Amino acid sequence: MDRGPFLERAREGAELIKMHIELGHTIRLISHRDADGITAGAILAKAVAREGGSFQLSIVKQLSEELIKELASERHRIYVFSDLGSGSIELIEKHLDFATVVVADHHPPEKSEFSTESHVLVNPVPFGANSVRDLSGSGVAYFVAREMNEKNRDLAYIAIVGAVGDMQEIDGTFHGLNLEILEDGKKLGILEVRKELRLFGRESRPLYQMLAYSTNPEIPGITGDERNAIEWLRARGFDPEMRYWQLREEEKRKLHDALVIHLIKHGAPKETIDRLIGDVVISPLYPEGDPRHEAREFATLLNATGRLNAGTLGVAICLGDEDAYRKARKMLDDYKREQIEARKFIIQNWGMADEGEHAYVFYAGRNIRDTLVGIAANIAINAGLADPEKPVVVLADSDEDENLVKGSARTTEKALAKGYHLGEALKEVAEKLGGEGGGHAIAAGIRFPKGRIDEFIRLFNEALARQVGEGKGSED
Ligand code: C5P
Ligand code: C5P
Ligand code: C5P
Ligand code: C5P
Ligand code: ZN
Repeated sequence: MDRGPFLERAREGAELIKMHIELGHTIRLISHRDADGITAGAILAKAVAREGGSFQLSIVKQLSEELIKELASERHRIYVFSDLGSGSIELIEKHLDFATVVVADHHPPEKSEFSTESHVLVNPVPFGANSVRDLSGSGVAYFVAREMNEKNRDLAYIAIVGAVGDMQEIDGTFHGLNLEILEDGKKLGILEVRKELRLFGRESRPLYQMLAYSTNPEIPGITGDERNAIEWLRARGFDPEMRYWQLREEEKRKLHDALVIHLIKHGAPKETIDRLIGDVVISPLYPEGDPRHEAREFATLLNATGRLNAGTLGVAICLGDEDAYRKARKMLDDYKREQIEARKFIIQNWGMADEGEHAYVFYAGRNIRDTLVGIAANIAINAGLADPEKPVVVLADSDEDENLVKGSARTTEKALAKGYHLGEALKEVAEKLGGEGGGHAIAAGIRFPKGRIDEFIRLFNEALARQVGEGKGSED
């Protein structure tokens, strides 16, 4: 990608923020409610505070026209959006024309820049980056913060926690500008990259739970079965109660080998095996055994706060608040339990899924929380319920509005190779259904009226058909 021009944009954004700080204006920060949004918000908040500025921060589920209007009515002089905003450029131009706006985001943008000088889009996608591997929302916020002040390099670990939350290293390695953030962090001695087992639970889960709760990838015969996990570990000479971080290096290697052999024996695809062992980021800023010590566990803790409606608690954790951390640890257990229940539900009820020509659509009603449908869709793929070349949408009743459903679409690189772009498809379908949708090629979301699920199924399949060049282009 074109690194220079992207950093130039980050510098423009940074200059605008600093100018408003000097003028004594409150910086209005709005960020997305997942791990990379929460870390992005924390990075910008810290950067503003460091310059002696004041900020007001909101962590939001999505950016609707309604919300933009509400923000406009606050009449701030400057608004900074992170990990969202790129899909709402026209709405921002329409309602926030009186203010300075900086959008620090990595979603494929509606257009590659704003039409006014007081609005700046800092987004690596128009410069050639892949939105789901090269940089996350927190990474974009990091580069803006770094342009504000060199000292903000000490936020590199938080930025990487966001990248991991977004699964930017899903294939086992980091790419793109994420590598530059890692280098910054290594130089400061605040993070370390190891080649280790990339399953959730390095710090806080006993080995048997690390294996039994693994859904990405699923471990045949072990995922979802604690008793089998315990036996499997014992048979290979491991104490199932040990934590991964407590293992000696040769024990880790022995475990890796045993898992690889197990996967090969069960016919797991090569990509699954390749990404099992890979980049794992840890930080000496926290003690071993603490979820914040390893980026994936840290990110999950933040996702737990966001999805249980406590995103600002997550921001406080990133800013070093120990009380906030203790509160969030309790949420983590609920969050994990809900994920396990969602997995069970989708596996047991997959027969209800509508399998169309181009996509599966699974409506879960109230059985899966609307903030977990993305994880559920990935589970349907990873657990082998769905053909990996066909995108999956999981729908659930909206937590906020009983007349709406929330959906998450997920797919694989293999399916993308056919020409699918889920974000574009959902944006188009949402417009027809009177909802809102968008996102990345591989992962996207939508909300629309509940009574229109059948239409959604038809329109989504048609939109995907057109993307791979076999649609009749039906318009309605
Ligand atoms: O809003 P945002 O960009 O942060 O969210 C990206 C979403 O895409 C996350 O939920 C992440 O888990 C998902 N993702 C995925 N598969 C990938 C990359 C990202 O499901 N290969
Ligand atoms: O390193 P890798 O081949 O995984 O890079 C994947 C993507 O990241 C490519 O699009 C490449 O242009 C980009 N990249 C980058 N800066 C780097 C390394 C790779 O933008 N330092
Ligand atoms: O799917 P993966 O194994 O990478 O995820 C590890 C854990 O991270 C998941 O069990 C989940 O708790 C959390 N996660 C999340 N949001 C995502 C992806 C993963 O909370 N978008
Ligand atoms: O909501 P969900 O986690 O399924 O979203 C997947 C990706 O699509 C996220 O990156 C999210 O920010 C993005 N998205 C979007 N516009 C929407 C809904 C989701 O850009 N209306
Ligand atoms: Zn993101």
